[in-house]
Amino acid sequence: MPDHNVMASSTVEDYIKRIYLQQQQAPDAYVPLGRLATDMQVVPGTATAMVKTLSEAGLVDYQPRVGVQLTSNGDKLALHVLRRHRLLELFLVQTLHYDWSEVHEEAEILEHVVSDKMLERIDQLLGHPSADPHGDPIPSSQGTVPDRQLTRLIEIDPDEPVHISRIVNQEPAFLRFIERSGLTPGIEITIDTLDDQAESLTLTREDGETLNLGLQAASSILVARRE
Ligand SMILES: [Zn+2]
Repeated sequence: MPDHNVMASSTVEDYIKRIYLQQQQAPDAYVPLGRLATDMQVVPGTATAMVKTLSEAGLVDYQPRVGVQLTSNGDKLALHVLRRHRLLELFLVQTLHYDWSEVHEEAEILEHVVSDKMLERIDQLLGHPSADPHGDPIPSSQGTVPDRQLTRLIEIDPDEPVHISRIVNQEPAFLRFIERSGLTPGIEITIDTLDDQAESLTLTREDGETLNLGLQAASSILVARRE
């Protein structure tokens, strides 16, 4: 692992993490700089200047007019930042009893300042977890990502019991809705009916409670099937 200390300002880490998350949506594609600028809430010229700096540091491959992709060093840095972010989120929820809808902002700040030593203590305290409170996978300290086969809830057949595993829409209001509905990761549910015309489905939770969910909301929920 290269020494990131010189380059690892929080801005660099934020760019690298953004590019990584964009690449997750479309693997192998170059991330257009316009989209990166929108994501980072900066004007395109600022994003371009930053990407050139990242390219000189060997963290990204920049193709003018095409976009940007992480190099293997960029990838390693992104996974390191995500490990910090997600472990901190879990720590805030499990140990400090934060609400899961409010930990993201806090982790955005802490991820840049937590020491490796403190992070490994947190990892130990939490029992080397593989996912954060929202179900996002926590990369290992070696930079490997736990591989889970998840399916969108709306693709599941009725009567097949599945476990809620990951909430993709992490807007605080949506997370609070998910919590109120008792649909947090780990809960087992079964779809009873799915009506495309009404754009809604009914499901039954493991505690026997039946509820209605719009397909739009359901499409933000990923589930794990039984092995
Ligand atoms: Zn999260």
